[in-house]
Amino acid sequence: MTVRVRFAPSPTGYLHIGGARTALFNWMFARKHGGDFILRIEDTDQSRYVEGAIENLLESLKWLGLDWDEGPDVGGNYGPYTQSERTELYRKWADYLLENGHAYKDFTTKEELAEMRAYQKANGLPLGYDRRHRDLSADEIADLEAQGLGYTVRFKAPLDGQTVIPDLLRGDIVFENNQIQDNVLLKSDGFPTYHLANVVDDHFMQITHIMRGEEWISSAPLHKHLYDAFGWNMPNIAHLSVILSPSGRGKLSKRDQAFQDGDSYVLVKTLDYAKDGFLPEATINWLANIGWNYGDDVEIFDIADAIQRFTIPDMNPAPTKLPFSKLEWLNGQYIQALEPLELAKLVKPYLDAAGIEVNVDALIALMPAMSVRMKRLPDALEFLQFLDDESWQPEQGRLTHKKLAEPAAVRAFSAAREFIAANDYDLESLGGKMREIGEQYTDNQKAGPFLGTMRYAVTGQQVSPPLFESIMALGKTRTLARLDGVLARLDSA
Ligand code: GLU
Repeated sequence: MTVRVRFAPSPTGYLHIGGARTALFNWMFARKHGGDFILRIEDTDQSRYVEGAIENLLESLKWLGLDWDEGPDVGGNYGPYTQSERTELYRKWADYLLENGHAYKDFTTKEELAEMRAYQKANGLPLGYDRRHRDLSADEIADLEAQGLGYTVRFKAPLDGQTVIPDLLRGDIVFENNQIQDNVLLKSDGFPTYHLANVVDDHFMQITHIMRGEEWISSAPLHKHLYDAFGWNMPNIAHLSVILSPSGRGKLSKRDQAFQDGDSYVLVKTLDYAKDGFLPEATINWLANIGWNYGDDVEIFDIADAIQRFTIPDMNPAPTKLPFSKLEWLNGQYIQALEPLELAKLVKPYLDAAGIEVNVDALIALMPAMSVRMKRLPDALEFLQFLDDESWQPEQGRLTHKKLAEPAAVRAFSAAREFIAANDYDLESLGGKMREIGEQYTDNQKAGPFLGTMRYAVTGQQVSPPLFESIMALGKTRTLARLDGVLARLDSA
């Protein structure tokens, strides 16, 4: 048997980080077993369709590195993979259920349904469709049809007994059939509901394992009855744990915008993680440890290794709080592990967007000093702020030092300027010369006071990367311009 799993989002907005975790576990399971990971778009509820949502889903999954073997864009043997292109098939199988007495036409109008609901509410009765058209005679049906009334197709659920769902994560879940409604399978516009389309597709796409959110548990008995009515086997099924907000107050799935939760500003849209400078590798690593864990207290792991260890029964069905702050730490670890060139490439777009110019070689040289202080990619901006000429406004009073008073400061900065102007320096020769100047001009002949003052003078910042790297990053022309500015300020003092 080839393992075949699917991720079946509805295009109602953007990929939620909780949905990304569902996709991840399905993908890991497929990859572990050399199976297929299928992407199916469940867009039968046209009223909830959001323009651009499908593109967002694809882009989000791609960013995370979750590649699919079959799907709307890549095709496959079981397509089409977008439900709105499969409506014929659903109608055909709804007809099958009608013909075999597993479903019936319900002609109740919207107004009648509203009245029914109002009556049930007023009388403290359980809410739901009262099955008034479940047992109409053929004549009655013909009569209603002759009146031109539209209808929905409802499933004829068993009225008594129990339904058992063997959940791979939770064990047997037992449902009392008298609690189950006669759900709508086909709407009056001829479009299927989620239940019908989902069951038909999972069957014809030969899905072997369903892993989906806990919120679908209550649909499982209906799905089981549908499989039975069609005479098909139900795939193996597991309902994943629900994710709570970091503080444990409320479900994460109820959030549709980033929100403040205690100390954390929690992101919910997958691509916001990208925008805010989290690395996909770190995000995937973090997500895999929510409701499943690698084991042996290992927090940082390669997803390829995690795939080898992944099993469905190892997942924890209990609700889990989103460990958002852990992601920041984890991301910092991934940033530090990057090669300077790789990190520079990732940081560059943030600089470009902020209009900060920097020479690429210099940026690479700065990375080791900076990466240890970064949790997210845009953190680099704070350390690289010194590159912005407009914000370079050193205060005159801080260009001298107790041990480097005027005119020694002027002489020291002039000597530095002269060296920089006249030489093709590198990090090492520059450092050697600056130390020498410092020792020469300060009272106690220690380079420290000069180097500290020079760092402030050149960067104009209290927080900046080390001096020599900063000078390399600025480049000769801009460093000279700044030193001229420094000398002018000292001159006018
Ligand atoms: N379209 C459903 C959703 O967006 C899929 C549920 C399932 O996996 O069966 O959650």
